[in-house]
Amino acid sequence: MTKTDTKTFAPQPIDIKNEKIGLEKGAAVVVVGAGAFGGWSALYLLRAGYKVTLVDAWGAGNSRSSSGDETRVIRSTYGDNEFYFDLNVRALALWKENQKAWNKKLFFNTGVIWFCYDEKTPLVDDSIPFARKHKMNYEYLSLEEVKKRYPAVHTENLHHAWLDPFGGYLKARESAQAVLEAFLNEGGEFVQTYVTPGDIRSQQLQNIKLSNGSSLHADAYLFACGSWLGQLFPEVLGNIITCTKQEVFYFGVPKEDALQYDQLPAWVDVDGKDFYYGIPGNANRGFKIGVDQRGERFDPTLGERISNPQVLANARKFIEMRFPGLKDAPVVESRVCPYENSPDGNFIFQSHPEAGNLWFLGGGSGHGFKHGPALGELVANQFKG
Ligand SMILES: Cc1cc2nc3c(=O)[nH]c(=O)nc-3n(C[C@H](O)[C@H](O)[C@H](O)COP(=O)(O)OP(=O)(O)OC[C@H]3O[C@@H](n4cnc5c(N)ncnc54)[C@H](O)[C@@H]3O)c2cc1C
Repeated sequence: MTKTDTKTFAPQPIDIKNEKIGLEKGAAVVVVGAGAFGGWSALYLLRAGYKVTLVDAWGAGNSRSSSGDETRVIRSTYGDNEFYFDLNVRALALWKENQKAWNKKLFFNTGVIWFCYDEKTPLVDDSIPFARKHKMNYEYLSLEEVKKRYPAVHTENLHHAWLDPFGGYLKARESAQAVLEAFLNEGGEFVQTYVTPGDIRSQQLQNIKLSNGSSLHADAYLFACGSWLGQLFPEVLGNIITCTKQEVFYFGVPKEDALQYDQLPAWVDVDGKDFYYGIPGNANRGFKIGVDQRGERFDPTLGERISNPQVLANARKFIEMRFPGLKDAPVVESRVCPYENSPDGNFIFQSHPEAGNLWFLGGGSGHGFKHGPALGELVANQFKG
C-alpha cells in the first residue's frame, strides 16, 4: 500500500446523505469482522441482495472482541445529539423485530436510570425533546421516589434521577452469534481466518490475504475490525482508531435479597467523575459495573486480559457508596474488553482515501454495540445507493 498522509482522512460524523455507493445487486462483498458492526452489516447487505462473505479471525462474539462481553446497555440518551438518539430508536425497533423472528430473547427492557447530581444534567436534559418527539418520554424521579422504588440505591449525594423506561440491556456475545446464525441461514458464507488487506491498484483494493496463504477477491470490502482497524491500516487509521483497556466487574449479590438487585434498571452515574454504569440483572452473571474512564493503551490480540487491582478497588469503593448493601459483595467474574476509540467518539463509515471499493466501519468508542442493526441497515442502504 502506498503511503497516505493521514491528514487526508478526516473522520466525519456519519452523514448518510453523502455516502451513496451504488453497488449493483448481486455484486460480491467481503465483510471483515463479525462483531456488532460487521455481523449486522453482513446480514443487511445480504438482505439487500449482495453475495456476502463474512470473515473473522476468532469467530463471532469472541473473547478478544468488543462485542464479546455478556451484556451491553441500550439507551437513547445522547445529550443534544439527535443523530445517535434517532439511530438508537431505529436500532431498538430492529432488535425487537429480529429477536422475534429468531425466537431468541436478546433485549431485556429493564429501563435505564440516570443518577443526576445537579438540578441540570445536560446529557439527559437535552435528550428530552427527542424522547418527546418519539413518544418515548423519560420519567423524572424525585429522591423520595427513587428511595421508594429502589431502596438499594443510596441517594444522599444526588439531586434527582431520570428513568428511561424504553431502554435496558442486550445480550452481547449471544447476539453476535445469533446474527451469524441468521446470516448463514439466509445464505451468507462465513470463513474463519485472519485477514490482511492486499494491494491497492487503480484506486481499488485488489483482494484480501487470508492466513492460510490464499486470497479472496470481491467487488467491495467492508473492514469492520473494531480495535484492530488502526493496526490493519496504520497509515490511514493508526492515529485515528486507538485501543484502550476497559474493565468490567460482576459482583455477587446477597443471597437473602438477590431479586431486589437483579430487578434494578440498568443505571448510569451521570455526573460521577469516572462515569460508572451498570447492569444489575446482567443475564444472571452478577451485578455488573463498568468503568467508562479510558484505560491504558492496549493490544487487542496480545494484551493479557487481567484486571488492574486499582481499577477494581475504585469500582468497589463506588459500589459501596451507591449500593451500600453490596459492601461485602464478592467479584464473581471480571472481564477486560477493548474500546475502539475514534478521536471524537463518532462512528466512522468512510472509504479508504486511495481505494473507492474499500470501506471502514468502526470507532464504536464504547457505545456502539446497541446501534449494530441500525448501522447494518444504514450501510446496506448506502451500498445500494
Ligand atoms: C467494557 C465495554 C463496555 C461497553 N459498553 C457498551 C454499552 O453498554 N452499550 C453499547 O452500545 N456499547 C458498549 N460498548 C461498545 C461496544 O461493545 C462496541 O462499540 C462494539 O461491540 C464494537 O463492535 P465492532 O464490531 O466494531 O468490534 P468488535 O466487536 O471488536 O468486532 C471486530 C471483529 O473483527 C475481528 N477481526 C479483527 N481483525 C481481524 C482480521 N485482521 N481478520 C479477521 N477478523 C478480524 C475480531 O475477531 C472481532 O470479532 C462497550 C465496550 C466495552 C469494551
